[in-house]
Amino acid sequence: MSLGPAAFLGLGAIGAPMAARLARGARLTVWNRTRSRAEAFASAHDVRIAATPREAAEGAGVVVTCLPTSREVEALLDGPDGLLAGLAAGALLVDCTSGDPAGSRRIAARLAERGVAFADAPVSGGTRGAETGTLTIMVGADEPTFELARSVLALMGGRIVHVGPIGAGDALKAVNNAFLAVNILALGEGLAALVKAGVSPRTALDVINGSSGRSFVSETLVPERVLTGAWPRTFRLALLDKDVGIARELLRDTGVVAPLLDLTGELFGRARAALGESADHLEAIRLIEAQAGVEIRG
Ligand code: NDP
Repeated sequence: MSLGPAAFLGLGAIGAPMAARLARGARLTVWNRTRSRAEAFASAHDVRIAATPREAAEGAGVVVTCLPTSREVEALLDGPDGLLAGLAAGALLVDCTSGDPAGSRRIAARLAERGVAFADAPVSGGTRGAETGTLTIMVGADEPTFELARSVLALMGGRIVHVGPIGAGDALKAVNNAFLAVNILALGEGLAALVKAGVSPRTALDVINGSSGRSFVSETLVPERVLTGAWPRTFRLALLDKDVGIARELLRDTGVVAPLLDLTGELFGRARAALGESADHLEAIRLIEAQAGVEIRG
């Protein structure tokens, strides 16, 4: 299936494998802030490189963005080389950033003035899901925009769900990732204690994964990344900290008292300060290990 001209902006850890899938089904132009990354991508895929966001958007029916936060997406809109200078009326911007609902609503309003449609479409499934095209994609948009976005998103995801109006995708993604953050801390603390109590972490996980305490963190992330000591860097802790912040804001805005997420946010904020901007999200467990004086390996 060919979608005609499309553009992808933001070839980061998850953006690059998503763009690679998109390039198989659309005539794709890519833009990345650091050009060398776009060049490396173009040497492996059949894509054109744009010099600016404007150039990427010119002639594209669909533009996909995947940047750290809504703030960076908003910042790409303006100026002589910005997206708004290149987007034609009738085009669609699909933002796969795990953004924030208010930011997405602001972006959508700016685009609507030019007759450009917008959908927030954050993704879940990690870099592996992006490589295999099996991502879950949660879309906030009106119904006609969702139908437009669906065909392009289907090239990158396995499960494309319309979850509500603009901003709803961001809200759901943030809550999902808040659960991820809670589970990482809970597993780290619990397993550290079990190791100190003389239980092998692999035995502990075998039992937990056949019991009611299991989660994606216990079934996949801890066995693959912590027990092995591999600590691959695929999703930055700084980005998960950002997601917990968005979830906390959502709970505040909706009047839900959230002591658990508030504490999780504080702990991830501290982990980010201690481990820096490039650490992987699972590395929060390293701090628990250091404090407890154990390593969860086996
Ligand atoms: P990375 O940090 O790996 O990449 C960020 C991308 O954004 C790079 O292309 C970077 O360009 C670009 N960028 C950063 N700042 C700016 C800026 N000011 N202006 C223009 N471009 C900028 O992030 P990921 O790819 O991991 O994540 C992207 C989004 O996807 C985030 O919202 C994240 O939360 C979400 N996500 C990530 C997952 C993962 O497993 N990694 C899973 C699910 C969601 P440059 O190359 O120049 O630095």
